Amino acid sequence: MKPLFEHITLLSHGKYTLPYCNCLLIEDDITCLVDSSPHPKEFLHLQDKKIGLIVNSHGHSDHNSCNHLFPQAKVLLHPAEHERVKSGEAYLTAYGYYLYPDEATRPLYLDAVQYHARPADGELHDGQIICTGQVEFEVVALPGHSIGHCGFLFPREGFVFTADINLDIKPIYAMLDSDVDDFLNSIERLRQLKPDMLVGGHGEAIMKENLEQRLKAYRDEILSREEKILKQVQSGVHNIPEIAEQGICFNGRFPEPRSVYYMHECVMDLKHLQRLERLGQVVCFEGKYYSR
Ligand SMILES: [Zn+2]
Repeated sequence: MKPLFEHITLLSHGKYTLPYCNCLLIEDDITCLVDSSPHPKEFLHLQDKKIGLIVNSHGHSDHNSCNHLFPQAKVLLHPAEHERVKSGEAYLTAYGYYLYPDEATRPLYLDAVQYHARPADGELHDGQIICTGQVEFEVVALPGHSIGHCGFLFPREGFVFTADINLDIKPIYAMLDSDVDDFLNSIERLRQLKPDMLVGGHGEAIMKENLEQRLKAYRDEILSREEKILKQVQSGVHNIPEIAEQGICFNGRFPEPRSVYYMHECVMDLKHLQRLERLGQVVCFEGKYYSR
């Protein structure tokens, strides 16, 4: 727990531990939580709080798993993410569990990520201003990681809460509604905002130094993956499951559980190939990709 600004406290234990995230607690006329999956040690600080409002960056359970513990709170979320917080099946489908089946982990996945269905009560949209009393912040649509992924700009304090755009952690776009062009545009949008500080949803949270360079390096990581995937296709590997064996988006080494990260790799490779197809660099015939 670390006070950031007047009324605003960061709940972070400083490490990238799933299924938890860094959250903001705003203690104001309305007590507001920005994302709601703090590490259990940080959750202790919430136990006596009367949370009236929860603002979720997106519908992944490592950002909203405690929503159900605050039934009195109003939960706001981008409408494109509403379905997956209502239904576990929708959640699994959106992760590609039925496109790249992994029968072994599918029945275990929702428990492992501490999924609890809790419908949202209202919507978030780009440009929306949220006021809790003294504190005001603006919703900044930052899609790509998922279709309705949002950041939050605190103009008075000079920072953006970036959720799953984490410069210390490699970019992830592993939902069927993720999109590489959207992700690149969201990075560019953050660059344009020229914030003094970014607060990420995982790891050390506070990013202040060399933001311009680090955002560029983060973008280049995505472009470099795409080059490697294109080379695979050019060298005669045409099927996504075979391309994914290379683990290009995980630097050649899948974290455990391997089958889950292999599925994420399949979806991320698909996202790059869809972009390469739009760019006219590959064509798709019957699910196989060929260079032009
Ligand atoms: Zn996420």
